[in-house]
Formats: sequence, C-alpha cells, structure tokens
Amino acid sequence: MQVRITVSFPYEAPVSQSLFDRASAVTPGGVNSPVRAFRAVGGTPRFMVSGTGPYLTDADGREYVDLVCSWGPMILGHSHPEVIAAVQDAVARGTSFGTPGAGEVELAEEIVARIEPVEQVRLVSSGTEATMSAIRLARGFTGRPKVIKFAGCYHGHVDALLAAAGSGVATFGLPDTPGVTGAQAGDTIVLPYNDIEAVRAAFAAHPGEIACVITEASPGNMGVVPPLPSFNQGLKDLCAGNGALYISDEVMTGFRVSKAGWYGIDGVRPDLMTFGKVMGGGFPAAAFGGRADVMAHLAPAGPVYQAGTLSGNPIATAAGVAQLRLLDDAAYEKVDAVSAELRGLVTAALAKEGVAHRLQVAGNMFSVFFTDAEVTDYDGAKAQESFRFTAFFHSMLSQGVYLPPSAFESWFVSTAHDTAAVERIAAALPAAARAAAGATA
Ligand code: PLP
Repeated sequence: MQVRITVSFPYEAPVSQSLFDRASAVTPGGVNSPVRAFRAVGGTPRFMVSGTGPYLTDADGREYVDLVCSWGPMILGHSHPEVIAAVQDAVARGTSFGTPGAGEVELAEEIVARIEPVEQVRLVSSGTEATMSAIRLARGFTGRPKVIKFAGCYHGHVDALLAAAGSGVATFGLPDTPGVTGAQAGDTIVLPYNDIEAVRAAFAAHPGEIACVITEASPGNMGVVPPLPSFNQGLKDLCAGNGALYISDEVMTGFRVSKAGWYGIDGVRPDLMTFGKVMGGGFPAAAFGGRADVMAHLAPAGPVYQAGTLSGNPIATAAGVAQLRLLDDAAYEKVDAVSAELRGLVTAALAKEGVAHRLQVAGNMFSVFFTDAEVTDYDGAKAQESFRFTAFFHSMLSQGVYLPPSAFESWFVSTAHDTAAVERIAAALPAAARAAAGATA
C-alpha cells in the first residue's frame, strides 16, 4: 500500500537514490525485505555503508542515531570490538565446513544455559526457518494438523503463518499473500490477539485437531502490544489441557528483553521456543528448541525431517557466542535504562504538542501508537493515525535519527546508546512532535 504523504522531504539523498534506482532495476521493489523500501512512509530508502556503536552512516555521508538496530540483533551497537574480533578469528579459519563444529556446541550451550525450558536446541539460519520447523515438529509430534496463530503476530514468511500477519504484511495492509494456497493456510486458525475466550472456543470447535498454538512471546510486529497479564499462561493451560503444544516465538524478544528473553519476564514455560536476531550477533543464525521429548522427534534422532547447508555456520555461531557472552545483567540494565529515558523524552515531546499517543512497552522494546486508546490487538493497532507517524518519521530522519520506517514496528536500542546519542534524539524530538501534530490524513 502506498500512503499519501503529507510531509515534504527536508533534504534529498542523491547517492542513496541512485543506488535505489539501480537496485530497482535488478531487485523487486529495490530491496531484499519489503519494509526497507520506505513505501509506508515514502521518500528515498537510505542505503547504509557503515555502523559504529549507536550510529549508522549512509551512502551520502550522513550519520544517524540508529533506533532500528537491524530490527533487533544489534543489542551491543554496531561493530562491537569483541564481536568483530570473534568474527575475524572465525573467518581466518574458513567460512563453512558442512560438518559439525565446536561453535555450534558453544552457541547451543549458551542458549540452553540461559533459557530453562530449552532442554535441546537445533540451529537454523533465519527466524522463518525456526518457526516453520517448530510447527512441523509440533505437527509430527502430536499427529495433528491445525495451528492457532494470532492476528498481527508475525512469525516470518512461512506459508501457513502469513495469514493476518504483522510486520511488513501489516505495513502494506496485505489481507493475504498470493502464492499461499488454500491447502497451505487451510489448517491455520487465526484469532484476535489477547482474546483467551476465542482460543478456548477454537479448541472446543476442533477437538483432537490442534497441534499447537504459536504466539509472539510479546508481540512487536504490530507495534509493541504486550500480552495481558494472564494471556500467555491461559494459552499454556489450554494447550496442556487439550494435548497441544505451546510455541513461544522469541525471535524478537529472545536475549533482548532479558537474559532469558520474555520467558525471563513472564515465566510461562513453553513446550517449544523459537529464536533469531540477537543470538546471531548480526549474522544469519536462529534456533528452535524446548522439551527434550519433543525435540527427540527431529531427524536424525527421530522421523521429523529438518536440515540446512549453512545451519550452525562457524562465523555466525562465533558472532552469536561472542554477543551472548557480553550480555550480562549490567548490559540489560543499560539497555532498559536507555529505553526508559527515550520513552520519557518521546512522550514528553508529543504531550507538549498535544498529540494523542500511547507508548507501549515490553521490557526494553517500545513503540508509539498515535491514538488515545490502549492497543491490545491488531485492530487497535490499525486504528491509530499512522499519517502522524509518517510526519514524525521524516522529521526525525531529516535531523539524523533513524526510526523504523513503519508505524507497526518496535523501536530498538542498544548498550551503545550513550548520552551523546540520547541528546541527539532529544534535540530532534520537538520538531518531530510538531510535525506529527500538524500532519493531516
Ligand atoms: N518471528 C518473529 C517474532 C519475528 O519478529 C521475525 C522477524 O522479524 C521472524 C519470526 C522471522 O525472522 P527472519 O526475518 O529471521 O526470518
């Protein structure tokens, strides 16, 4: 969906524009992941050439404070010296062997040590692969076909999970994705988020048919919409009572909102969990894991097939291990503190201009909804005045602050967001709040 733009672009980005023109000739829409194309906000997507700490530099030589952090992974900021050193060390020994390697063991041990419900874990290369494989395993383990997911939750571009998905699907307002057949999506039951009675009714309507419920541990792909206090426990209880598996997708929240992700915050014990983003240190590494008796059904231990040429890649695992080992209690305290400070600054600036908004928070993840009402589901998220976000976004961008180019995404901070970075954001906020106040649909 191309939205009407009510803001003028304060400056041009000629080198990015020329790269985008070249990219558009050889790549659909000019990008390799849709939200990067800026279609929801308009203007020229910035092509980044380097990142250091909390800053990104674009191809036109402009520096930005980065509040996207590669959509979550860069929790230590860009080019963290110890992560870079681990990567350089691994690269010097070769790039891929297609055999087992020590790095895979170390990364799996780090994950198992941090997240108590994960007794065994399998490494893959993307969050999409992790959720796809977890669903297959749940179906193989239970011998049942159906999957419950929630509107506004995004679990990657798995065919069966693209129905009413968040993230790019929300950004572009796609009702459904052509290319997904009725058969692929036919066993997916999509329910409103935070509505436990709807889940109860679905189990009652499909006795013995539901393999699993998959949910974002705390959704960040329709903007940040945390679970109501008893929602995840309710899901767990309904799954347990009906012989289904409870799959908590922690691709976004895992190792980000605490050492043990969202599980470390709500303590609801999933049967299976999925991870990605932070655990790869900026490289393609992801994972799914959980109960040992369920994981034992995975090939070669069991009959459910799953594989990957680059799974457990030595460079990705070196980066992931280095990043996770640096993420101690002090690191999370730092990220939490920066997040809280920024939230205070954003809400103060918007309130000063009388802009109706809600700041919604899950650990150190947060996003701004341009609405008065608390947002508890996807319909609520879509009801916001997203044209105000567009104006806010471009004002921030023109002042050197890089926000997610969509009103339906979480903002991410890192341990590298120091006083200087926060001051730059603070200086940009008054004009951005005025732009949001003055925006029209
Ligand atoms: N699950 C969640 C909760 C995500 O946020 C994402 C990506 O944003 C995915 C799965 C898919 O991960 P990937 O983009 O690595 O395939």
